[in-house]
Amino acid sequence: MVRVITTAPTKASQLVYKTVHFSLVVEVNNATTEILFMIDPKKLHTGNCTNTIEILTTSIPEVLENKCYNSKNLPFSEEVLNTPIAHLFEHILLQSLFNERKSASNMVLIYRGSTKWNWKNELIGTYHIRINANIRDMDIIRSAVENTVNVTHAVIASSEQV
Ligand SMILES: [Zn+2]
Repeated sequence: MVRVITTAPTKASQLVYKTVHFSLVVEVNNATTEILFMIDPKKLHTGNCTNTIEILTTSIPEVLENKCYNSKNLPFSEEVLNTPIAHLFEHILLQSLFNERKSASNMVLIYRGSTKWNWKNELIGTYHIRINANIRDMDIIRSAVENTVNVTHAVIASSEQV
């Protein structure tokens, strides 16, 4: 469905993805997972996406119930309409990890994350996402990230067809 190009990782714990809209380097460490997320500066925000709720409802509805600590204290189901794509990516990944962990080992683990950026020092469209998944989650991280890449890509791509 989505053309995902994976390039050869330099380490076993590193995953690299590239779509036409964004690319990411995922580093799975002993304590955390660090993601360098880079997106086309013309596609930064969900405010330009017209089918966000529909796509999430179809592909990963639980994400709309996520807890989210944002400046306006909005529930994620409202925040999601006007937020950086990178922040949406973070939440889809947290939910995907939760879902994968539950179906792989029937365990309920709550994953948490943060999305930060500083465009005084870095290129516009560069984000740093940190998740509390770690090397012990390696069995589920690849499929959780691939699902997240596909859903995020779908959110951006759907609004381009309108
Ligand atoms: Zn959030």
